[in-house]
Formats: sequence, structure tokens, C-alpha cells
Amino acid sequence: MAVAKKKRNTEDIAFVNFKKKLQKYLNSYQVKKVEKAYSIAKDAHSGQKRKSGENYINHPLDAASYLADYELDHETIMAAILHDVVEDTNIGLEDLEKLFGKKVSELVDGVSKLDKINFESKEEADAANLRKMIMAMSNDIRVLLIKLADRRHNLSTISVLENKKARRIARETLEIYAPLALRLGIHNLSTELENLSFKTYFPLRHLTLVKSIDKARGNRKLLMSKIQSEVIKKLNSESIKSITKAREKHPYGIYKKMRSKELKFSQINDIFGVRIITDSVDFCYRALGCIHNLYKPIPGRFKDYIAIPKSNGYQSLHTTVLGPHNLPLEFQIRTQEMDQLAQSGIAAHWLYKTTSSISKLSREQQWLNNLLDIQKQSGNPTEFLGSIKDDLNPGKVYVFSSKGEIIELPKKSTLIDFAYTIHTDLGNKYSSGKVDGEFKPPNTILKNGQRVVIEKSEIAKPDPSWLNFVTSVKARTSIRNYLRSIHESDAQKLGEKLLMSSLNEMEVSLNDVPSKTLNFILSEYKFKTIEELYVEIGLGNVIPKLIALRMAPSFKQDTSKTIYDIEGSEGLVMSYAKCCHPIPGDTIVGHITQGKGIVVHRSSCKSIRHIKRDKDNIELRWSENVDNFFSASIMVEVENVRGVLAQVSSVIAQSNHNIESVNYTDTHEAGRNMMVFIISVKSLNSLNKLIDKLNKIKNVYRVERKRS
Ligand code: MN
Repeated sequence: MAVAKKKRNTEDIAFVNFKKKLQKYLNSYQVKKVEKAYSIAKDAHSGQKRKSGENYINHPLDAASYLADYELDHETIMAAILHDVVEDTNIGLEDLEKLFGKKVSELVDGVSKLDKINFESKEEADAANLRKMIMAMSNDIRVLLIKLADRRHNLSTISVLENKKARRIARETLEIYAPLALRLGIHNLSTELENLSFKTYFPLRHLTLVKSIDKARGNRKLLMSKIQSEVIKKLNSESIKSITKAREKHPYGIYKKMRSKELKFSQINDIFGVRIITDSVDFCYRALGCIHNLYKPIPGRFKDYIAIPKSNGYQSLHTTVLGPHNLPLEFQIRTQEMDQLAQSGIAAHWLYKTTSSISKLSREQQWLNNLLDIQKQSGNPTEFLGSIKDDLNPGKVYVFSSKGEIIELPKKSTLIDFAYTIHTDLGNKYSSGKVDGEFKPPNTILKNGQRVVIEKSEIAKPDPSWLNFVTSVKARTSIRNYLRSIHESDAQKLGEKLLMSSLNEMEVSLNDVPSKTLNFILSEYKFKTIEELYVEIGLGNVIPKLIALRMAPSFKQDTSKTIYDIEGSEGLVMSYAKCCHPIPGDTIVGHITQGKGIVVHRSSCKSIRHIKRDKDNIELRWSENVDNFFSASIMVEVENVRGVLAQVSSVIAQSNHNIESVNYTDTHEAGRNMMVFIISVKSLNSLNKLIDKLNKIKNVYRVERKRS
């Protein structure tokens, strides 16, 4: 009991301190709402313990309290307190929305989604893409700030975790989160995250470096204080108002530099430095003059980040000089505002905000205000916030492949775009796709962070209808290329067949045609090879009868009798009219359409009656070998009762016919419905059997094959 009571007291004290921070910048209504969020989170997590043995609520409270140091708005603070309730308790997002509004639930949802990204077994090369993915997923920057505060507390108690897990978190932080904090310009946090992780991930290297730094610091102590007093004296004599601080590079910063530039510890000369903070830009440049006057500058080591800020908005003057005993020493000179921005980065913008009207502004307006703020503060236009906005909303979507790689796609990309991005062959042989483990249709639009797996099959082919929804250039051109090639080879086969049967009708074979005649015909049509002629015949651009007549002029026959056999496997150059849906068993006629090849109609079809030009029509006959499915359309008039569609469709399915679509049309009889089915059938025979069966259903009045 006594222990429990004591724990509760520490928690209460932590909350009281937190509340004091809030009261400094939030109004009492907002503080009340945060208090409510706290009590809900505390109840929800009650009984849950952290690995460290603390009550769970300490964790979100720490994250929220850290963000309150940056005076972030009350919605962010509430979301930070509630950031683990959806994942770890039985409170749902809808509950949060009801209790605290849409914005808070969106922020919590955003943090939960980031938690679900699986970092394991990521190659280091992937880290940059993973950072982009996280930026794109945090389309509200506050999501990322909460995640960073969450990670900061997790790291502070990392020593209680088992070694493997601790190392994973540490590595992830070094590769992903510390760089993200830096990208937002929050140097303080980035450094803190780096040092905690460095110690966990490389304990020996950390220890060695810390010892070396301690030793070097001891050696330089006198020297540093001598330099500092020289500098202060000089600046005072020039009436430059300033604060001078000795600074020390942090262990991970030294480690990174040693590794990237292949240097030994003794070769790193900016471990110790001096930072001068002044009141104005003018003072900065004047202070620089003083330093260069006092010590000899090392050529090539001066950088003016005031005139040209770093991409994360950082501004400062950097110069390295030869100090006493010829020791190199780095000076950083900047204004107070620049210093503030260097410490807090994007979070600094909230510090300058008037908190009252923010929630009324749209996000775009907020961004604009931020831009205006930063411009005001630095007196310098900067692309910092603009570039972050681009990162957050890059027009790209990032998903994981089956191998865990991160794939960048244009926004609105589908499963098909993904398949073609991985490999043209994978797109061309696409058979099915899974998103986060579930089968989805090929036009499914992918979202950030999803895991995508594509199955291919050797018999699968690209579908022309994919062109209606693909987004990426690669998918579009690959599908078109495929269709063009398949179209041509189909056309060539069909053209050859059509020409051969025309010649056969005249009892001539191609071998009988003198090569002189053949070459003459080819050159007349400007074809280089006979295959080109076949393609054009197959596409319907050249009439085979005419060519056959030219090839064998002496064999005058009644060519109108020429009949061609079709097998239904001619591919894209032979299509079946949607007006009359011909199937094997029907008498049919072919209509040659330029560029499209032959369209097959039923002889009775009304839509071709008006086409008088006989030369465009060719007689067709179903081959005896035809063994394919064809679409047929039937109309079923039914009593308007429940379950009748199910009755009809189960009869269709039982007789092994597939339903391609079903539609309702009006009938003029009250209480009746007309259903129009498109089904796949093999022949007229099997269709007639099906119609008989359907006619026997109780609620069916009439079944008919649809006429054109
Ligand atoms: Mn957490």
C-alpha cells in the first residue's frame, strides 16, 4: 500500500509540474481539455507497466511534457498523452474523436501508423527512403514531433530492455529518427537521440571516445579559459554586445566525422570550440572581424550560413582559426534568434505563435504563417519550411516490396503500377496482388507504408483495360508496347490464314504464285516482306480476296463464296460484336473495320444490315475445333420477389456457366423485373439447354436470348 501510494504521488507531482508548464501558454479551457485527456489515458493504461517497472502513464506524460517545453498547441499535447491508447488499450479512434475532436484522433492515428512500419532487416541504404516514407506519412508535422518525443522517452529507459531489442531501437534511431529531428532543425533533440543510441549500439566505441574527450578537455581547460577571456576582452573593446560560450562536440558527432572523413581522434580539430551569440547580424560580421584579427584564420574553413542558410534553416557563421600554440579552433557566431532556431528548429515556430486563433486557420495558412514568421525572425527569406512541406507532401507514395525494400511510386499508383515498377516482366505476367496480406483488385490505389506482394503466372497477359487506371509512365508504355506486339503477331497469323483460304478457294497455293508477281504486288503496296502484308490483311486494312485475285488472275472464280473458318483464338484482331454477342452455332458474318481487323456479328444482327458495302463484309464459319468461351446475353423476366436473383444465378452457376455481369431493366408489367445477364458459354447448344433450365424456375416468366 505504502509503495503504491508513493508511486501515485510521484506521478501526481510530475503532472503538477506539467500543468504548470501548460498554464504559462495555454488558456484555462485548453488546460482543462489536456487534463481530461490525461485522466482518460491514465484510466485506460491503469494496471499496465513499462519494462522499467513504472506505471505506463509516465511514458506518454513524459512525451507530452517534453513537447510542452516547445509550447506546442493543446491538440498536439493531448495527442501526445493519448498516443498509445489506441494500440495498447480498448479505446478506439472513434472514442477519441467523440471526446477530443477530429484533429486529436487524426494525430493519434498518424502516430499509430508510424509505429506499424516494420524496420527490421532494413539495409542501411534504405534509411533515406524510409525517412522519406515517414515524412510522407506524417502529413501533419505534429505527428512526427509526437513520434520523436515518444522515441526520446523510450531511449531514456532503453537500458531495461533486452540487448537485441535495445540495439534495434538504437540503430533505428541513429538511421531514421535522429536525422529526421535534424531535418526539422531540432539540433538539441537530434543530439540527444544520437548520444543515447550511440551508447547503446556501440558501447565500447562510446566509452573510448568519452574517455578521450575527458582527457583532451582536461588538457585544454586552461587554454580554453584563456582564449575565452581574450575573446571577451576584444569584443568588449569593440562594444559588440555578445555572450561567449565554450562548446564541445558531442561524442556521436565526433564519431560520425571520424568515420566519414577517415580521421583519427587526434585529427579532429573542432571538438572544442567557441560560440558567440550577438544581438544582430551586423554584430555577427563585426565579431568575425575581431576573431580574424585576434587569430589567424585557416583558409577555406570560413562558412557563411547567414547569407546562405542550410537546407534545414540553420544560420550561423563558422570559422576555424589557429589559436594559441597553433591549435585549430572553431568559432560559431550567430544571433539569438538563429541560436534559438538551431536548438529547436521547426518547434521554435510554435514558441512565437499567438496561440488563440491557430485552430481556426487552415493548414496551408498555418504554413504560410510559419514562412512569414521565419522570414521575420531571420530577416532572410528561407526555403526551409517550403522544402519541408515538399518532403511532407512529395507527390510520391512509398510502399514496401515483398523483400522489404521501399519502392517510390507516383501518387495514385495501383498494384499494376507497382508490378511494372519492380520489373516489366512482373507487370506483363501479373496474376494477383496482395496489400498488407489481403488480395485486392489490380486497380487498388496504394497508400504509404503498405506492404505489397505480386504473384505472377506464365500464362497471364496484360489487360488493355489497365490503361484506364495506371498512373506511372513505365506501366503505361509497357502495356502499350505489349499490346502492340501481341496485336501485330495476332494480325500476322490471321492475315496469313485469310489469304491462304482465299487462295485455296481458287485452288491455288502460294507456291504457285510466281515470285515476280508476288514482288510486284508487295512493292505496289510498299511492303518489304510478305509478313507485313499478312499484318495489314489481319488488321483489316487490305482485303484478302483482292490480293488473292491479283496473285492468281487466271483463276476466275465466284469469289463471293469464299468462307473463312474461325476458331475464337485469333486474339485482338478478331472481336465479337457487343450488340449481338455471337456464339458458336450462330450463323455469322464478319465486318472488316480498318485498323481493328474483323468484328464478328450474328447474320441476323440489325446493326450490320445497313452496311451495304459488300467488300467490307466477309463470310465466316465457326471452325469445328472451336473450343473457347464466348459472351452471350440473355434476358430473364421474373416475378419481383426476394431471392429470385439468387435462384437464377445458382442455376447458371450449377450448369457451369460464368456470369460476367447482370443488370436490371424495366418491364411494363407491374411486379415484374427484367434481368439482363452476360454469361460465358461455349456454344449455342449449351446456351439453349441453360435457357430450358431457367424457364423451369418458379418465379421466372420468360427467358430469351437478347437480340441486337
Ligand atoms: Mn509510445
